[in-house]
Amino acid sequence: MIWLKECPKCQGDLILDQDSYGKFKTCVQCGYLRDVVETAAGLTPTAIGSDAAMLAQLAAIPIAA
Ligand SMILES: [Zn+2]
Repeated sequence: MIWLKECPKCQGDLILDQDSYGKFKTCVQCGYLRDVVETAAGLTPTAIGSDAAMLAQLAAIPIAA
């Protein structure tokens, strides 16, 4: 799956990836990461309204590569 121009940092493209911790979206241009919340129904679309608060929290967290 791919989400075009959805990266909040660089407006790049997000792709679905997965590791031992679960699924996440990652930006192919800048490496931005965002966890994907899964339910029994599958992938939950992220509500745009809740994005800003979450991004503010993420921005405060140093990402260890
Ligand atoms: Zn990006």
